[in-house]
Amino acid sequence: MGPRRGCGLMALRLAKLRCALCGGPIDALGDFFRASGDFLSAQDPLIPFCNVPMHWSCYARWPERTRFAALYVQAWVQANHKNPFWWSVYQDQRVYVSVNPERPVEEASVRLCAVGSDIRVPLTKWSAWVTDVEQVTPGLRPIEKRALAEVLPTLQAHFPSDHAVVQAIDPSEKRTARRRAAIAPRSSGAPPS
Ligand SMILES: [Zn+2]
Repeated sequence: MGPRRGCGLMALRLAKLRCALCGGPIDALGDFFRASGDFLSAQDPLIPFCNVPMHWSCYARWPERTRFAALYVQAWVQANHKNPFWWSVYQDQRVYVSVNPERPVEEASVRLCAVGSDIRVPLTKWSAWVTDVEQVTPGLRPIEKRALAEVLPTLQAHFPSDHAVVQAIDPSEKRTARRRAAIAPRSSGAPPS
């Protein structure tokens, strides 16, 4: 018999994940929020909440959520400036939209600054999505729906179609990445030595 292919899955199942906010158990295969990466400055008291799982319900109630999520989204903005595949097409205080128009991805990514999660929208379904979010991306959490409701009129106005999303790509974005990173707020903390 060869190696048991279920081993990895079994280990994942048995791993005891704990919510960083309430300490309660989290199903490793279940639905939870986790902000990955070292995106806070070295002195930030929220560092223990990076790279760890949190129940969506606990995360929704967390008083630090909006500051934490906004910094996480800002880290994605900066990361995408250096990413050859993802282009930043819109950003304000509430939402950040990027797009990868190339096959096989052909998706937009919508990150709400009050949440931080990555809501993916296939470009072919963008027009339908801005009209009826639930139909294209069912299963959004209540905090995502609330934050999305606030920005949807803006997204509809700027991007009524997938064509408008792709047209918003600034071909010079990657060339100015270094300069933008220099003036942008610090977000990627190097590990303390
Ligand atoms: Zn919890």
